[in-house]
Amino acid sequence: MGMIIPEERIKLLDSLFEAFSIVAEGTYVYLCDMKYDYSRWSKTAVDSFGLPAEYMNGAGDIWEEHIHPEDRAAYRGSIEAIFSGEDDGHDMQYRARRRSGEYDVCTCRGIVIRDAEGNPDYFGGAIRNHGIHGNVDMLTGLRNQYGFFEDLHNHILKNTEVNICMLGINSFTEVNEMYGYNFGNLVLQKFGRYLLDYVGNRGNVYRMDGTKYAVISSTQTAEEIRQRYNEMREYYHKGLMVDDKLLLLDLSAGLLHLDNFEVDDQTAYSCLNFAYGESKIRRKGDLVEFYNHLTDENRDRLEKMQVIRNSIVQSYQGFFLLYQPVVSAGEEKVIGAEALIRWQSEKYGMVPPDHFIPILERDPIFISLGRWILKTALLDAAKFLTSNPDFVINVNLSYAQLEKPDFVDMVLAVLEETGFPAQNLCLEITERCRLLDMALLKNIFVNLQARGVKFALDDFGTGFSSVGIVKALTFDTIKIDRSFVQHIETDEKERELVRLFTGVADTFGAKVCVEGIETSGMKTILQQYPVTSFQGYYYSRPIPVQQFLTMLQG
Ligand code: C2E
Ligand code: CA
Ligand code: CA
Repeated sequence: MGMIIPEERIKLLDSLFEAFSIVAEGTYVYLCDMKYDYSRWSKTAVDSFGLPAEYMNGAGDIWEEHIHPEDRAAYRGSIEAIFSGEDDGHDMQYRARRRSGEYDVCTCRGIVIRDAEGNPDYFGGAIRNHGIHGNVDMLTGLRNQYGFFEDLHNHILKNTEVNICMLGINSFTEVNEMYGYNFGNLVLQKFGRYLLDYVGNRGNVYRMDGTKYAVISSTQTAEEIRQRYNEMREYYHKGLMVDDKLLLLDLSAGLLHLDNFEVDDQTAYSCLNFAYGESKIRRKGDLVEFYNHLTDENRDRLEKMQVIRNSIVQSYQGFFLLYQPVVSAGEEKVIGAEALIRWQSEKYGMVPPDHFIPILERDPIFISLGRWILKTALLDAAKFLTSNPDFVINVNLSYAQLEKPDFVDMVLAVLEETGFPAQNLCLEITERCRLLDMALLKNIFVNLQARGVKFALDDFGTGFSSVGIVKALTFDTIKIDRSFVQHIETDEKERELVRLFTGVADTFGAKVCVEGIETSGMKTILQQYPVTSFQGYYYSRPIPVQQFLTMLQG
């Protein structure tokens, strides 16, 4: 002992270690070259327990310090028996201290491998951590979401500056569908291992849900991460051999920089997830940094998000709805309204929905806000109905709401609670919903339409497959986005587009609503087309419920 380990023994150690790792399944692996007392331990163990490094001299003694004082004697006795050649391995339980200071119960199994002369050569095995069992992903052996949140929480408590990257494999369902579930698992395992190796000691790797992974790094700059991500992306794009099949994998990634922020782990996660989603949906996999502006602005947005998030928990404090009238195209009478959400606080003033809806939509907390919006809108609109029984209230939906298996039940429950007539409700969805399972969407439509609920397609023409979705689902109304009519008074092409859009709507039996009417000139031109209704500042901006009532009565 104390001798310097030769290079070839390190290579041997590594290849044996890899062999152990293959069968490790969610455990920590260790392997000790007993002749030199030189060991390699799983990176996950190094991270969880705060060990000095993956490669260690005298790992037995180092590990002993992490073992609960009451269990140390038993551990020491066993290790001595192993190193003296008396025992051929051990299978014991002890409590080991995590980086955080807490103890976890671990089962440690190891065996001694002897050389040709029968002398102890290697001691290797696996440690199963029962305590953080819930924190380890069984498939990849990486720390899971719980582990991620635990570590994130600690970083926030300690105010460490960190970069958090979320990355994932796109269209993984195709891999599963083509080659089967087991193969899919193999790919996820491989990817996890690759990531672990690639990141090395520059950060900690986690497997999040599904095909998403995360890396928390306190040593790499955003620029370094971007560069490494691009390298990795290129590598995977060229193809990866798994079970002699060549797979071309596309990645997406989001990045969040935290530096001494007043932010909780859930908000941070939400913002990270938003950046990831943007990368996947809008940026074809380019790394998207959450508000990659000046740090101060970033900080401000994060803190604001946190306050807004907390308002949801605190009985929706600061949230309210405004109503913008929808008028008939011919007589220009109010026939309905669209409910539009706002959030307001003393510190931040009035915050428009674009600042928080796109981020919160991917947050589980949004589900309760969505229900609140619907219920509030129906309770308010019930008052509008008294003077106008045909009045239709439009409520915006996010695709995350539609994704919930109990969405239909939720809408029916709110209709019941409020006693609002279903046929006076119109739910607006955007073309982004095409990302959802079509069968699921159809099912929602059929169920709610059977009760009388209407659907509108919002922002028509801004997405990729506007016509596709109109063909697949039955819409009562198609809303033409204001970007198509902004210059209608001077632009011949815009008029041509409106003609085209109304034609599409007509083919599928839908009415047309044009948004963003700002001048009488605009509406005069649009009245020449088969348009059913208008919405825009020309008629009214979105206004508070009381003002809307007064307007209806006046
Ligand atoms: P949207 O559904 O397309 O709503 C129309 C937006 O256009 C509203 O902005 C409205 O104030 C604005 N607008 C109306 N008329 C005019 C006009 O003549 N000129 C101009 N320049 N703008 C006009 P707002 O209220 O800021 O809402 C923005 C987006 O936020 C909405 O777009 C919708 O996607 C989302 N949103 C608003 N409320 C909710 C909600 O309750 N739930 C969900 N999921 N999303 C919402
Ligand atoms: Ca809308
Ligand atoms: Ca719209």
